[in-house]
Amino acid sequence: MKSYRKELWFQTKSRREYINITLQVQQAVRESGIKEGLVLVNAMHITASVFINDDESGLHYDFEQWLEKLAPEKPHSQYRHNGYEDNADAHLKRQIMGREVTVAITDGKLDFGPWEQIFYGEFDGMRRKRVLIKIIGE
Ligand code: ZN
Repeated sequence: MKSYRKELWFQTKSRREYINITLQVQQAVRESGIKEGLVLVNAMHITASVFINDDESGLHYDFEQWLEKLAPEKPHSQYRHNGYEDNADAHLKRQIMGREVTVAITDGKLDFGPWEQIFYGEFDGMRRKRVLIKIIGE
């Protein structure tokens, strides 16, 4: 069995952002040379997510509105976690949107269903953060 590891680094301009990382994951699969296997893609931070959904701007706006209803950023004082930090909302948003995705690799390609794209979801950005890609297979 072969394995391959790669990190992707991000520094978003705003606190919250969604970045389509599908092409970078496809590139990593190519670099690995693995034709049949699995790719794991996970956020390496507890205030960011990796998830699969549609690359549609209306949906991303809806995610923002929905997450702000469930875990509004402000007032910061509403959360016990905040004090030294101000990112309790980001921990909660990440919990809802998930830590990682696993995608099958078939014939050297990501074996997606219709419209599936991989996103990095940032909830406490404007600093350097990373995503781990781990690929195993033959
Ligand atoms: Zn925190």
